[in-house]
Amino acid sequence: MATSQDCVQLTRDMLRLNTINPPGNEEACAMFVGRILEDAGFSVRSHSFGPGRTSLVANIGGVSDKPPLCFTGHIDVVPLGAAPWTRDPFAGETDAGKLYGRGSSDMKSGVAALVCASVAMAPKLDRTPGLELVITASEETGCEGAFALLKEKALGRAGAVVVAEPTSNYPFVGHKGALWLRARASGVTAHGSMPDKGVNAIYKAARAVQKLEAFRFQNPAHPIMGQATVNVGTLHGGLNINSVPDEALIAIDIRTVPTVNHKALLEQLARQLAPDVAVESLMDIEPVYTEPDDAWVQDVFEIMTPMLGERPVARTATYFTDAAPLGKAYGNPPTVILGPGEPQMAHRTDEYCELERIAQSVAAYQEIIDRWCLKG
Ligand SMILES: [Zn+2]
Repeated sequence: MATSQDCVQLTRDMLRLNTINPPGNEEACAMFVGRILEDAGFSVRSHSFGPGRTSLVANIGGVSDKPPLCFTGHIDVVPLGAAPWTRDPFAGETDAGKLYGRGSSDMKSGVAALVCASVAMAPKLDRTPGLELVITASEETGCEGAFALLKEKALGRAGAVVVAEPTSNYPFVGHKGALWLRARASGVTAHGSMPDKGVNAIYKAARAVQKLEAFRFQNPAHPIMGQATVNVGTLHGGLNINSVPDEALIAIDIRTVPTVNHKALLEQLARQLAPDVAVESLMDIEPVYTEPDDAWVQDVFEIMTPMLGERPVARTATYFTDAAPLGKAYGNPPTVILGPGEPQMAHRTDEYCELERIAQSVAAYQEIIDRWCLKG
């Protein structure tokens, strides 16, 4: 399994296994990939954080002094959305150089490419630093699969991490963090004809929303990632027109940069929005960043230069990835996000991936493995 045709076929096989999350159901896809890796000589362990919610950790090679290289990708995909598709999302149709399907870009092509490259290199990896492949369930809803691996101490060592998320094969040196909060306003209900007898929770929530709109981050902007952002995603309150609402809930999506301290930010917001609302954290994923002058990052830049037609410069992604929980487990080694999918196709109707990029990423990953394991 080394040719790009094999890798397109593997992507297609994975697209046919429905892993839409929720509910996820990654088990069949994980077992399918696990068998391929086992046949290639990897030692494969599966870990489920719930029924059918299966992630894999697979290893090959390994020496004591230099840690393995980690490749990671998730196998869950997002729902199809309300708009009808013009292509079958689960058939793996190809047309005019594109492979269509839910997850073709985000990110079954990336998982297929890392598997194909690893399998192709496997016969050479005995008594080398080797590889740790981490194939996760449930990334899309907040990295639950990866966090479960972290909690179970299911991860080994890694000296560098490649996250095969869609980047059109442009290596990103990090991504923003995400701090998702819920703010709850509490009131006292009363008949809508006697509002003076109650306390209106929606008025409190509205004041909090206005403060959030006006919120300015005090941390310095990051030289590559820029500044953090805040977005109010939902606001729910009230039961009917003729009652004073006694509860309103605000969902807040904050995307952070490395100059933000999550704990301090949460405390600052809780202070500023009090007493109108009480704030709690729903999800806390740290940003990931590697200095672009890191030697291994420069190696990756060099490998990608002929494929991109230019030497990459330091760029980062706005979305979060499993690199955040994995980085915690591995002690924050240098990390790049590099995958064949098209970032602008992620989560879209009629999602596709370019066949040429799949072939390129298999070649690039093999070169990255070769340098880490055989030339380092
Ligand atoms: Zn993804």
